[in-house]
Amino acid sequence: MIQDCYVFAMGEGKEKAVHVKAGEVVTFKTRDCFNNQISSEAYVLDALDWDHINPATGPVYVEGASVGDVLKVSILDIELDNEGTMCCLPENGVLGKDVVSSQIKKLKVENGYCYFNEFQLPINPMIGVIGVAPKDENVPCGTPGSHGGNMDNTKIAKGSTLYLPVFHEGAFIALGDVHACMGDGEIMVSGVEIGATVTVKVDVIKGISIENPRLEDDTHIYTIASNEDIEKAIYTATKDMCSILMKHLSYSLNEAGMLLSACGNLQFCQVVDPERTVRMAIPKTICKEVL
Ligand code: CA
Ligand code: ZN
Repeated sequence: MIQDCYVFAMGEGKEKAVHVKAGEVVTFKTRDCFNNQISSEAYVLDALDWDHINPATGPVYVEGASVGDVLKVSILDIELDNEGTMCCLPENGVLGKDVVSSQIKKLKVENGYCYFNEFQLPINPMIGVIGVAPKDENVPCGTPGSHGGNMDNTKIAKGSTLYLPVFHEGAFIALGDVHACMGDGEIMVSGVEIGATVTVKVDVIKGISIENPRLEDDTHIYTIASNEDIEKAIYTATKDMCSILMKHLSYSLNEAGMLLSACGNLQFCQVVDPERTVRMAIPKTICKEVL
C-alpha cells in the first residue's frame, strides 16, 4: 500500500518514489482534494492552505517504463471513505461571479449512495487526479495536461483502463482527488471530494507512443485532451480519435471525421480548472482499439 507520501505537483518527489514492477498491482491510499483540511461544515475556507491542495499519492516508479512507451493503468477498485466534502466559493467555477458567499457541504456516503439533502445520489467513484511526471517542468496537481493530472474525467472509474504517455524512465505515476459523485463539467469546482483506497495494475506497452491520455471501458474508447482554450482541447481530442479510426479502419480523414460526426460523442470532463478537459468517445462496436 502506497500511503503517507504525497506530491502537490506531478513530477515532484522522483527521488523518494516507490519502485514496482510492470504488471504489478498497486494500492494507493488517497486524501481528498482539500488534503483532508476541511473538518466540518463550519470550517472557514479562508483558513485553507491553498498551497497544499490536490495531493496525489506517490509517485511510483514503474520498472521497465522508458521514454516514449505507454503506461497502461487498469483501475481495479476504488473503495471510498464514508464522508464526502463539497464547497463553492465566489469567483470559482461556471457560476463564480454569481456566488456571493462560500459554503461547505458534508455528505454521507454509504451503501452505494451519496446523501445530498433529500436526494440519494447513486455513487460513481472516479479518480480526479492521475498522471505521470510531465515532460518538462513539474505541473501542480490541480492542472491537467498531456501527462494526465487533474482531468476530472467521470469515466476514470473501476473497470476502465487509462493509457498515459511516458516522459521519464519509470513514468512516476501518482493519483488522488477521488470523487464519490461528480457531474460532467464539475461546474462549481468540486465534486463530492473524498478519501479513498485505489487499486490499479500498471503495465508498460512498448513500440507505441501517444501524446495525450487515452481511456477505454467496457463500451467505449476515449481520447482526452486539456487546454486553457477549450476549443484547442476539442480539436486535439477529435484529431486523436480521428487518427485512431484512420489507423484501425483504414479510413481517410474525411470518412473518419464523418463517422465521428455520426456517432462519436464529444463530452466535457471539467470546465473549471486552469486548463479545461474534454474527451471524445466512440463505441467499441465501431472500434475496439484505442492505441
Ligand atoms: Ca479535481
Ligand atoms: Zn476533486
